[in-house]
Amino acid sequence: MSSLPLNNPSALRSSISKSPSTSPIEAPSSNGPLDASKDARQIVRLAQCPQCSYPLREPVTLPCGNSLCKKCLPESHLRPNISYPATANRLQGFRCPFTSCRQDHAVGDCSVDVTLNKVLGIVKEELDGYKNSAEASEGLLQLQERDRWAIAGVASLRDEETRTRVLSGGRLCAAYAMAEMGELAYDFEVIFTPISSTTGDIESLDGSLLETLKDATRAELDCQVCYSLFLDPLTTACGHTFCRNCIHRILDHSDLCPICRRTLTIPPTISAKQAPSNQLIVKLLSGLCPEALAARAEAAKIEESNGVGELDTPLFVCTLSFPTMPTFLHIFEPRYRLMIRRAIESGNRKFGMILHNPTREVQGELGAVGFYSYGVMLHIVNMHLMPDGRSLIETIGVSRFRILKHGVLDGYMVGKVERVDDISIAEEEALEVSETSDAFSDRHFSAQDHFGAPPHHGQPPSPVLQLDTMSTQDLMEFCAAFITRMREQSAPWLHSRVYAAYGECPNDPALFPWWFASVLPTSETEKYKLLAMTSVLERLKMCAGWIAQLESRRWYDNFLCYAY
Ligand SMILES: [Zn+2]
Ligand SMILES: [Zn+2]
Ligand SMILES: [Zn+2]
Ligand SMILES: [Zn+2]
Repeated sequence: MSSLPLNNPSALRSSISKSPSTSPIEAPSSNGPLDASKDARQIVRLAQCPQCSYPLREPVTLPCGNSLCKKCLPESHLRPNISYPATANRLQGFRCPFTSCRQDHAVGDCSVDVTLNKVLGIVKEELDGYKNSAEASEGLLQLQERDRWAIAGVASLRDEETRTRVLSGGRLCAAYAMAEMGELAYDFEVIFTPISSTTGDIESLDGSLLETLKDATRAELDCQVCYSLFLDPLTTACGHTFCRNCIHRILDHSDLCPICRRTLTIPPTISAKQAPSNQLIVKLLSGLCPEALAARAEAAKIEESNGVGELDTPLFVCTLSFPTMPTFLHIFEPRYRLMIRRAIESGNRKFGMILHNPTREVQGELGAVGFYSYGVMLHIVNMHLMPDGRSLIETIGVSRFRILKHGVLDGYMVGKVERVDDISIAEEEALEVSETSDAFSDRHFSAQDHFGAPPHHGQPPSPVLQLDTMSTQDLMEFCAAFITRMREQSAPWLHSRVYAAYGECPNDPALFPWWFASVLPTSETEKYKLLAMTSVLERLKMCAGWIAQLESRRWYDNFLCYAY
């Protein structure tokens, strides 16, 4: 291919000087199909970094779904008032440079986007090869970089001269070359003027080049869970992309990325608002393979409607279970034997456990029903079948749900349920910041000073413990200290059998409340409240509240003993 600067000595200056580096302008977006030649500028923009305008290098997709080069990420700073999860890479963050977002992102949420990196790498390789081919010497064009004001006939607000080049290989190849040279600002348009060939030649060059690029990258746009084209692609913190529905399926079984086994930080109830789709992949698919995408969406729709009716979750109205905790059940009623057998035979081994509601406390839209509306999906780990058909089953809590509709199937309850998950880690952090930042931070204050004190001080435990403004980590330490004290005092509810069944007291604030609620002798309706809480901080606060109550009761009990 040929490349000659055209009477413009300043043509080689970097586009960085033109593009305001602190606030990338959002791409003029169109989600419709793109024509190889007419939309060449727009197609090349898909490969450009909104920040530096060069073709994306090591692209990183942010939690807001926008992508930019790794080296174009803003400098990170320490994020204050966060104690959970507080891993090193979450304590560092930066303000999102995209005007549509402007949120704080944790560095740990921003890995190189594996799919985009691969796709754009292939595009570059293919274009490098094409530039040396015979075709690429055809289709000579003059390219003029113009902002949208100039194109609309309004005098440009920037008085720099426009950058102009004569390049060959058709519009697509030439515009990409302009971007590679740093002469095409992300938000600028290009005026193409054919020099030697007829327009027809250029269009056929662009058409066949785009086909080559699509063929070369097609396999990279398949999801590794469903092996089909990405449908509503979502990129995880580890940089791997899956269909949104496939992430739901992954999270039903595990919280690890199926490719790299790192923990997924996306809440599985992922609404598009909480976890926006990967915008660049969405644009690539809708712009460059609209037919394949439409066929994929149609197939997914059919698959969904072929699924069992909407009341597809078997429900056992019995007791309170918690995620990650075991529940042991003795199954003797014939209807539940049938239910369990079906769960085992289907290979899915799951059913929902909901708490009996004898007082018929109103459950939202469900009304005064005989069960509580929040439950836990249980996975059958072990089953011991007795000769008379009864069985003992050991289950483990997988995830929480809320019942939307319910009915009866062969005597047992079935329901349409909605999975309940915690808010995202980013929202959790924001919550902690908002709840702890105005509190006076008294680092010397220790919960134990107040509640661990022997009763003969003659004063009731001080209520100054500001549970509402304590950090997640302080609450966790407060709870853990209570368990240690109770253990030292050989509290009967912490018998070794309890540890054998439920394991050691977890230090993870996300897990502790489930364990605590499983072992603490307090009312089930009180513990039930945990199931509807979607923040680690709120659940810990509830546990700490129980402890505070217990401790003050114990204190008065002891005080009375001393008094007599
Ligand atoms: Zn953002
Ligand atoms: Zn960049
Ligand atoms: Zn998929
Ligand atoms: Zn991964």
